[in-house]
Amino acid sequence: MKIAINGAGIAGSTLAYWLHSYGHEAVLIEQAPRLRSSGYIIDFWGLGYDVATMMRIVPHLRVSGYDVGEVRFVGRDGQRRGGFATDVLTRPLDKRFVSLKRSDLAAAIYAAIDGKVETIFRDSVAAIDEDAHGVDVGFDHHAGRRFDVVVGADGLHSRVRELRFGREEQFEVYLGYRVAAFELPAYRPRDELTYVSYAEPGKQVSRFSIRDDRTLFLFVYREPDSTIIIPATDAGRKAVLRDVFKDVGWECPRILESMERAEEIYFDRVSQIQMRNWIKGRTALVGDAGACVSLLGGEGSGLAMTEAYVLAGELARAKDNPLAGLARYQVGMMPFLQHKQKMASRFASSFVPKTGFGIALRNAITSLMALPFLANLLLGRQIRDDFGLPHYVSDETHAGIAKLNP
Ligand SMILES: Cc1cc2nc3c(=O)[nH]c(=O)nc-3n(C[C@H](O)[C@H](O)[C@H](O)COP(=O)(O)OP(=O)(O)OC[C@H]3O[C@@H](n4cnc5c(N)ncnc54)[C@H](O)[C@@H]3O)c2cc1C
Repeated sequence: MKIAINGAGIAGSTLAYWLHSYGHEAVLIEQAPRLRSSGYIIDFWGLGYDVATMMRIVPHLRVSGYDVGEVRFVGRDGQRRGGFATDVLTRPLDKRFVSLKRSDLAAAIYAAIDGKVETIFRDSVAAIDEDAHGVDVGFDHHAGRRFDVVVGADGLHSRVRELRFGREEQFEVYLGYRVAAFELPAYRPRDELTYVSYAEPGKQVSRFSIRDDRTLFLFVYREPDSTIIIPATDAGRKAVLRDVFKDVGWECPRILESMERAEEIYFDRVSQIQMRNWIKGRTALVGDAGACVSLLGGEGSGLAMTEAYVLAGELARAKDNPLAGLARYQVGMMPFLQHKQKMASRFASSFVPKTGFGIALRNAITSLMALPFLANLLLGRQIRDDFGLPHYVSDETHAGIAKLNP
């Protein structure tokens, strides 16, 4: 089969990897001129880690990743007020957990297919026209081509979804927050392998020191109005952050001042994408495009990889009947993703506490997480993946994978 995949992010490249390993022809289309290198830090574990293990990329993730030791909530004076040692998370997961930049995960996945799967950068699927035997796909820049299946792996603001399923507003469930992230060189202080976070009612600033003397910053704030437009330019985004966080204490004034040097600001609404269907004819959605859990899920990238693995496996299993494969993918994965979305949205009201009391309560509770039974009570359900990964990988495919990724 020939499969067009819009978006060379986490889901898209994983899907291309597995399709290629099953002998199908995948074509990745990515709107950016190259893979993005900036972004934010993610925790990577669970089913996604298992898929990455089968793809043999975990050693690369370990090299580019960080064994974070502590999440530390600080007060205005920078002193510790709450938080936990991360082994309460990693121990129950048998250390199958790594924190890394989203872009490093995307790059590691892409490296496994680079040169083997056709990728068209600086372009996007722009039209999808389907008949009983295939799909004519039009692009913004290149000439149109015909495929058997087209997949939207183009993230939260998916264009394939818009083209085939309808406007974003129909599917977006706004969780009441805005999130911004950027990276800076030579910021001081540094706290190695420690995620440091400061909150005031409805606002939170965090920093994490990474290699090459760089620091990643994450801003999250409550914004009940989902309609306020996020500026398209970095200058506009910086202005919003300066305004919202102008009176926030701790290191915030220094961070805002240093932000002027930041080259790229990620800024978005914190939303989920909830859909009843990820399939329409020969078009499918995967990853955030169809089932974004949001950053509150703490597992979106692993879930995106899992969906991609299952979609590729079901297409391979269905042989000449892609529609059957697509249907099996949706039936197999959707209840699990819906459950994950529910868990994440339950957490939304307390993610950045609204009041000083809420912040103090969170600090106290997280300090108590040193007690394993309490950690299990608070996090157990959150980190458990109640989904058994299907096995599609035959000996023949294993041999193919070894060739793909020796
Ligand atoms: C601040 C933050 C923290 C997070 N923390 C975690 C965490 O701790 N753990 C975790 O697992 N997940 C986390 N996530 C979620 C995770 O980043 C996503 O779930 C994951 O990246 C989804 O992968 P994806 O491939 O579906 O989409 P993306 O990674 O967004 O990739 C989409 C790709 O499509 C491309 N694209 C977009 N539009 C088009 C178009 N029209 N044409 C062609 N290409 C296009 C984009 O350039 C991009 O390359 C976090 C998210 C945020 C915002």
